[in-house]
Amino acid sequence: MTALEQAAEAIKGARKILAFTGAGISVESGIPPFRGSKDSLWENYDPDIIHLDYFHNHPKESWEFIRDVFYKYMSRRDILPNAAHKFLAALEREGKLTAIVTQNIDNLHQMAGSKVVWEFHGTTATLSCEHCGGKISAKEVDLEEEFPPRCEKCGKVLKPDFIFFGEGIPREAYEGSIAATEGVDICIVVGTSGLVMPADMIPIMAKRNGAKIIEFNTQPSKFTEEGMTDIFVQGKAGEEMGKLADILGIEI
Ligand code: NAD
Repeated sequence: MTALEQAAEAIKGARKILAFTGAGISVESGIPPFRGSKDSLWENYDPDIIHLDYFHNHPKESWEFIRDVFYKYMSRRDILPNAAHKFLAALEREGKLTAIVTQNIDNLHQMAGSKVVWEFHGTTATLSCEHCGGKISAKEVDLEEEFPPRCEKCGKVLKPDFIFFGEGIPREAYEGSIAATEGVDICIVVGTSGLVMPADMIPIMAKRNGAKIIEFNTQPSKFTEEGMTDIFVQGKAGEEMGKLADILGIEI
C-alpha cells in the first residue's frame, strides 16, 4: 500500500480527526513559507521587524513591512484556498474532522469553509489597540488614508492581532487548541516544519492522547525525523490531498 492509500484507510476508520497546519499548506495558494526555500520570508527579511520591541520603538518601519507582506500581498484576490484547505473543510462537513489548529494567519481555512479553526498565532483579520483595548476589523482600515493606522478612541498606533516575536499565544486559541487534542484518533499534520514552539506541542499532545499522526510535507519535518509520524505522505499538500479526496470519494 502507498502512504496515500494507508492514509485513506486510516481516515475511513477514524471517528475524530484533528488537523494541525503550517505555512506549507498555503504555498500552492501563492503564499511563501517563512523557512525552507529561497522564497521564504526570512531569507529575504530580518524577522526582528515584527519583534514587539521593534514595533514599539519603530512602528512606522514595522508597519511598512506588515502592510506590504500581510495586508497587500496576503489579501490579494488571487490568493485562494487550494485543494488541501478544501479537503480539510470537506472532512469537517463529513463529521470526521472536529477542529483545525493552524499556525497560519492567512484566513484560508475559513475561506475554504472550515468552521472550527483555532488560530494559534492569531489573525490578520483584526487590529487592536494595546493602549485602550479597542478592536477593529482590518477591512475597516484604509492604510492609504492613515499610516500607520491609529485607534479611533485614543489615537495610539494599532497592532495586528497576529502574534509578534516576543508575544504570548492568545489565551482562547491556546486553550481551545489543547482541548482539541483530546480524544482524537488521527492528527493530520500539514506543511509545517515543527520548529515553532509551543505550537509543536499540539501534535505531540494528540499523539500522547492516542492519535495516529498522518503527515503531508514536501520534505521531512521535525515530527518525521523524530519518528513521531506514523504515515508520511511526501509531496505538495494540495496535490496529495486532492488525490486523497478522490480515493475517499469526498467532494471538495
Ligand atoms: P515553516 O515556514 O517553518 O515551514 C514550512 C513547511 O512547509 C516546511 O516544512 C516545508 O517543507 C513545507 N512545505 C513547503 N511547501 C509545501 C507544500 N506545497 N505542501 C506541503 N508542505 C510544504 O512553517 P511553519 O511550521 O508553519 O512555521 C512558521 C510560522 O510562520 C508559523 O508560525 C506561521 O504562523 C507563520 N507563517 C504563516 C504563513 C501563512 O499564514 N500562510 C506564511 C508564512 C509563515
